[in-house]
Amino acid sequence: MSSITGSNVRAFLRRNLFVLFTVAAVVLGVILGFTLRPHNLSMREIKYFAFPGELLMRMLQMLVLPLIVSSLVTGMSSLDSKASSKMGVRAVVYYMVTTLVAVFIGIIMVMIIQPGKGSRDSPVASSGNIEPVQAADAFLDLIRNMFPPNLVEACFKQYKTMYKKVIHTKNVTVALNLTDSLNATEAALSETVEEIIPVSGSSNGVNALGLVVFSVCFGLVIGNMKQQGQALRDFFDGLNEAIMRLVAIIIWYAPVGIMFLIAGKIVEMKNLAEVGGQLGMYTMSVIVGLLIHGLFVLPLFYFLVTRKNPYSFIGGLLQALITALGTSSSSATLPITFRCLEENNRVDKRVTRFVLPVGATINMDGTALYEAVAAIFIAQVNNMDLNLGQILTISITATAASIGAAGIPQAGLVTMVIVLTSAGLPTEDITLIIAVDWFLDRLRTTTNVLGDSLGAGIVEHLSRGELQSQDTEPGNPVIEDDEKTYQLIFQENESVKHRNSETTM
Ligand code: ASP
Repeated sequence: MSSITGSNVRAFLRRNLFVLFTVAAVVLGVILGFTLRPHNLSMREIKYFAFPGELLMRMLQMLVLPLIVSSLVTGMSSLDSKASSKMGVRAVVYYMVTTLVAVFIGIIMVMIIQPGKGSRDSPVASSGNIEPVQAADAFLDLIRNMFPPNLVEACFKQYKTMYKKVIHTKNVTVALNLTDSLNATEAALSETVEEIIPVSGSSNGVNALGLVVFSVCFGLVIGNMKQQGQALRDFFDGLNEAIMRLVAIIIWYAPVGIMFLIAGKIVEMKNLAEVGGQLGMYTMSVIVGLLIHGLFVLPLFYFLVTRKNPYSFIGGLLQALITALGTSSSSATLPITFRCLEENNRVDKRVTRFVLPVGATINMDGTALYEAVAAIFIAQVNNMDLNLGQILTISITATAASIGAAGIPQAGLVTMVIVLTSAGLPTEDITLIIAVDWFLDRLRTTTNVLGDSLGAGIVEHLSRGELQSQDTEPGNPVIEDDEKTYQLIFQENESVKHRNSETTM
């Protein structure tokens, strides 16, 4: 009996080792951070102290680019065009519905709690420098970024509209004889006018949207090329497999990195106890909204569609959620999300390879919720009563801004400007919320990753018919990989059973 319990405990520990390590890392990080805070470390010392965390971010970011491209190309090429278009529609409908629901929850929360009412807080000193972009230009940039003219450049740069002041002359006609308008003679004069025009510019960072669009199309084309496309399919499949093996190595380092990321942030942060008044209530509104969306609404969607327990599915994602909390970046978390879904939750690789990279790029429920709350909070602070039209504008632009936000730390704060300008709210008031943004960013990133992952589970369930009918087709590398893995697991289980029966005998 005791040997069975012992082996059960050992099996449990082996299965959950990473999760246990990661949870321990968070706890140790918090303890370490608060222990070091009284020592008032200098900015330089904090930077050195957080170095192991910075390394984790760099390692994960290193994998993101090849992972997005290879997973999307293999994912799309392993499905026939009918199955992939159905899966695509399901994913996009899920993204839109959940994002709009998130915005709705945010609006309800901020309307009920009314964090911006009362005397105005003095803006907290901020180091952020956010350039305003007009909503129309931001929207066009989103579309431009979908079609990068240079794929190599797309790996490190995005298109971004800049503004330039130009002075030019314009011909105007004026009437010369003003007393007798019937006989007036006209003369052409030139007038100097000043105009601010949008010009092309760029910002640093991977153009994930462009790469996603290219990889999806490329994968679809390869899939239709049958035998001719086999070499490319094998190449990207091999690349994907190799990246996932690198993830399996880096994952051992993740707890150390997360511990230092969290401890470093705690040492660095300003005294949160001072964040009271309006800002405190605003923080509360965002947190309550995110909790409702992440813990009740999204699981409810999952349950309604799949009739399975959403919380056991979320249990398998724990490591990805903690990594999102530590890194504040859904793209940097992507490698871990892949691993959790494929290894712990056994979601079909053909689904994860498509749904996860697209989701990490465009599906951000947490960001959308936060943008809606922040915009209405700023309106409340300025005693502006928003009409239905403005609230509708905020809902639509918050959704668009969350699609446009990159999966990197505090990207939502930058796209926030679009929401504010389109609703006619003062953009400079963004300084009011910068102080708590690093903290809210971590929570919304966790919600974003949760939304993408539950989406993968839902799309897999809805697509099971097409997936099963493809299972019977020979020559599908993704399925063959899976079969090999399952065979290995099966053999392992059999030998473990055999060993156990020997020990109990
Ligand atoms: N940091 C978030 C993410 O990576 C984006 C945001 O700033 O809202 O998902």
